Amino acid sequence: MNFPSSMIIGGEAVAAVGGGTYESINPADESVICSLPAGGVEDANAAVTAARKAFDEGDWPTMAPSRRGRVLRKLADLVRKHRDELAQLETLDVGKTAFDSGKIEIPTVANILDYYAGFADKVTGDTLPSEAGVLRMTLREPIGVVAAITPWNFPLLLATWKIAPALACGNTMVLKPAKISSLTSLRFAELALEAGLPAGVLNVVTGSGAVIGEALVNHPDVDKIAFTGSTAVGIGIQQKAAGTTKRVTLELGGKSPNVIFEDADLKQALRGAMTGIFYNKGEVCAAGSRLLVQRSIYDDVCEQLATMAAKFVPGDPSSARMGPVASKAQYDSVLNWIEKGKAEGARCISGGEAHHVESGKGYYIQPTVFADVDNAMSIAQEEIFGPVLAVIPFDDEADAIAIANDSPYGLAAAIWTRDVGRALRFVRKVKAGTVWVNAYNLYDPSLPFGGYKASGFGRELGEAALDSYTELKSAWINLG
Ligand code: NAD
Repeated sequence: MNFPSSMIIGGEAVAAVGGGTYESINPADESVICSLPAGGVEDANAAVTAARKAFDEGDWPTMAPSRRGRVLRKLADLVRKHRDELAQLETLDVGKTAFDSGKIEIPTVANILDYYAGFADKVTGDTLPSEAGVLRMTLREPIGVVAAITPWNFPLLLATWKIAPALACGNTMVLKPAKISSLTSLRFAELALEAGLPAGVLNVVTGSGAVIGEALVNHPDVDKIAFTGSTAVGIGIQQKAAGTTKRVTLELGGKSPNVIFEDADLKQALRGAMTGIFYNKGEVCAAGSRLLVQRSIYDDVCEQLATMAAKFVPGDPSSARMGPVASKAQYDSVLNWIEKGKAEGARCISGGEAHHVESGKGYYIQPTVFADVDNAMSIAQEEIFGPVLAVIPFDDEADAIAIANDSPYGLAAAIWTRDVGRALRFVRKVKAGTVWVNAYNLYDPSLPFGGYKASGFGRELGEAALDSYTELKSAWINLG
């Protein structure tokens, strides 16, 4: 298999100016996958210069919008054609299962490109009711150079959430993927050139977030930062971006409540609880990491959760149901949280330790369930971002809503009930950007996604994302 080895700047495959490289590590066996350029400030600057030139002098923002749509559609087709290769890169890089990479994520990348390709010639302003002698109208224009800074949990998918709408609207971009998960972004940028995307419209710089990310955030020629990542880094970005009045959208962390009422279809709800926390080893911003269970069914649910969790045996992601966590840093952090949960007095009813495979290598963690968690405990308040579930009992609907909203975060929430009124009251009262009813972890290109409270602001996906990548211009025309 060929591994990407260069950054893409101005349509060229380039090494880092300083000549540095770093190794990309396979979390399944700790082996080195390949070396990648360790970009620095000069490389970030070169990428911004290329994107600026492509925006100010190139024809991407001004070409017939339908042509932009055709390029994005061609790129979607190339992603489909190279699905197996991209899926394999993603699995090697971050340990997600072959099924998730190949059957869910890479096909979704193509679907999102198609979805926004359709918008390229439908981003419109309005002609407003005006008196005689005057015409008032609005125009939607691309913002300019967008820097996308993305996390490692869904590397190409979350990059596409930004790239597809930004390019459809005529912006140019610099993408900085997370250091540990850059392979698919680099390959994708090569495919974009093959699809006919002009040089400089999509640039990818790899390396340290603190160095490259910060250079992009401070750069006066970057017009917008589209960030997905941790709340702490997002807050820093917002503060620094203020210096150059950049537009900023932030998709941040979560501690989402998944609420099971006694009248729920329990079989379905338990399955939802499992995928809610163990899908992608819990490395999901919207993971249902707090499971709220009505007290009347609490003991029964805990017993069944323990049995079901034990069946998610982690192993080689090419065949297992759950892979390793994405990196050594994440492995140490999640194990540390598990110890914290034990020390806080939560009752560990499943897992609770590292999982050892035969080779003795790899970052595997047992799917872990803590029962009798108090919502004030740190394992209920803070994002763990791993396969660790906190189960919290509640008495009635008011209690459930109060606990659900007692969190600094507000990314997602779910309710399992057969009572339509209760479900709709929950949808209204819960402070979260996405609410699922009798479902968990379902996404669609047309459905906006984003946070309340410390989970960030701005919406990705859906028509709503177009607002994040356009300026609204008002025109007043005196007709004489
Ligand atoms: P992170 O904040 O450590 O890194 C995210 C990105 O920011 C990476 O590309 C990183 O290199 C870069 N970065 C790091 N320091 C920077 C700095 N000082 N300036 C600019 N950029 C910098 O997050 P992560 O560990 O990669 O991802 C996990 C986090 O992302 C979790 O908190 C998770 O909830 C969140 N997340 C949110 C969503 C969402 O849609 N809301 C989706 C996925 C992940």
